[in-house]
Amino acid sequence: MNVAARASSPCPLCRGSRHAPYVVVKGYTYHRCEDCGFAFLDPMPSQMNLNAEYQGHKGINADYYPHAASRRRKALFRALRLIRHIRGRTVIDIGCGGGFFVGAARLLGATAATGVDVDASTVAYAQRAYPRCNFHCVPLELFVPAARYDLVHCSEVMEHAPDPHVLMRLLGACCRPGGHVFVTTPDLGSPNVPTPVGRWPGFAPPVHTGLFTEENLRTLFHRYGFRPVLRLPPRKTGMKLLFRLESIA
Ligand SMILES: [Zn+2]
Repeated sequence: MNVAARASSPCPLCRGSRHAPYVVVKGYTYHRCEDCGFAFLDPMPSQMNLNAEYQGHKGINADYYPHAASRRRKALFRALRLIRHIRGRTVIDIGCGGGFFVGAARLLGATAATGVDVDASTVAYAQRAYPRCNFHCVPLELFVPAARYDLVHCSEVMEHAPDPHVLMRLLGACCRPGGHVFVTTPDLGSPNVPTPVGRWPGFAPPVHTGLFTEENLRTLFHRYGFRPVLRLPPRKTGMKLLFRLESIA
């Protein structure tokens, strides 16, 4: 056994104990798991400290959101790609930011569209911009969905979860059996990740707490009863996958 590779806390994804320092960015150390390949901050910041980090970013308030027009356009384009899971269906966005995807889903015929985010300023913006949609301002780990939805959208959130299993339980609780979860997150296994790897914007401490490979993501979703049904072509170093909830884990 390589004693030097052992560290204090287990891998947050597979709970394996064999991991070693991988890259240091802005004074934060990411470890890489030797068993599953997941990269994660060690020591891991607490969820409470991270939630404080998310409040009032970038001058966002009820009247202002940076690059709102381009975000609205991108959200509409994505919603069009997922139209068969949106029109006449119910949609929830976990980590909804300014509510752009929620608004797009409603515009394209979702019967109900809901967003959840921890940042009060982004939720204030979303509620004002999309008054026909519902928004909840609550830390994701405390959110209890009142219903199960046909489509759960979770974009650029996985990499913020200090315990990915907490987020997976939420996604499972939000999704109806036979419903879908659309997830995007940076892809640590992408051939476009630069060398040296520390230059990759995926490593954004302290808020990006964990970086997945596509295999990590597929294995994790499988464990919670999901089957991959669609993989959208990646842009740059991201991955975009649609999973169907086959059974409740
Ligand atoms: Zn692992």
